[in-house]
Amino acid sequence: MPLHKLSTTPVQHCELCHSNHFTQVAAKDRDGQPLRTMLCEDCGLVFSDPRPNTNQIDDFYREGYRVAYKQAWQPRLKHTYRAGKVAQERMRHLVPLLAPESSVLDFGSGGGELVFILRELGHEARGIEPNIGYAEYSRDVLGIPVQIGGFAEAQVEPRSLDLVTLFHVAEHLEHPVGAFRQASQWLREGGLLYVEVPNVESQCIWPSSRFHQAHLYNFNAATLAQAGRRAGLQVVTTFTSEDGGNVTAIFENTETCTEAASEPLPGNATRVSHILRKHTALAHAVTPHPYVRPLQKLRRQWNERQAIAHFTDGKSLLQCLAREIQRPNRHAIHPTPTVKLAQV
Ligand SMILES: [Zn+2]
Repeated sequence: MPLHKLSTTPVQHCELCHSNHFTQVAAKDRDGQPLRTMLCEDCGLVFSDPRPNTNQIDDFYREGYRVAYKQAWQPRLKHTYRAGKVAQERMRHLVPLLAPESSVLDFGSGGGELVFILRELGHEARGIEPNIGYAEYSRDVLGIPVQIGGFAEAQVEPRSLDLVTLFHVAEHLEHPVGAFRQASQWLREGGLLYVEVPNVESQCIWPSSRFHQAHLYNFNAATLAQAGRRAGLQVVTTFTSEDGGNVTAIFENTETCTEAASEPLPGNATRVSHILRKHTALAHAVTPHPYVRPLQKLRRQWNERQAIAHFTDGKSLLQCLAREIQRPNRHAIHPTPTVKLAQV
């Protein structure tokens, strides 16, 4: 059943600040289906209300999500190539954070591309993936350790990891603060939690494409950072992607850091509301984004077709992408960290 028909559980309190002062900012999702999206007036968190319950969310990710959005039970070669190129880009940010043979967990590991590349580079990487088809592909075809499940089923030794990554996972979770808290318990002292989500302030997409049935939360840098603080983590940095479409926070697990209280974030709701209101279809139409992005997509699809013609299986394709990182050149990977300290 489509997710919007399952979304019947009303939200009582804001996940971040426990306020119940909400303002509606949208009534439909990117496909024109009903999706009530609210803004917390006290902290600026944007979220779906109502939403599905825990069991419905678990069922959806176990079997429905990849089929619904990629029309595939397991990744095809083009999916592996596309996700592998994304993993290469992610490695550009992760390499500066990793000591040799680091222990890494990629939560929501999808088709296993990032875990595979990390292991090719000598790290003790593994994944957890709720989708059965993608997790089985990771294990059976790529030969990497991936546990099937979500946060509730995760079997991880406490304080055993150097790095936990959540790429486009937190916005799907019913309780992201609880998930960050659980992840912090897997990290050794000084270990890092790396979280990337879509940026609710993004200007590179049409305004009507902003909200998605599967995204229960829509963060900006301030609310993402606050979610980590609420989980007892220390914010190292936040930054946005070059096109502003994604926002990332890096958190550190430190003995001295305690869980932040449920407090408002002064000014953030006004900021988010202003950005959403001024990003109209007309305002978007006079930027380069609507014209550049389709061209970029065409070029990417052309490059994909050319590249995957050289491969017959996902494993050899990813081995090739990993070798490009091992032998960086000025066109492939830039090992210099681009993260910068943000105002959070
Ligand atoms: Zn709030």
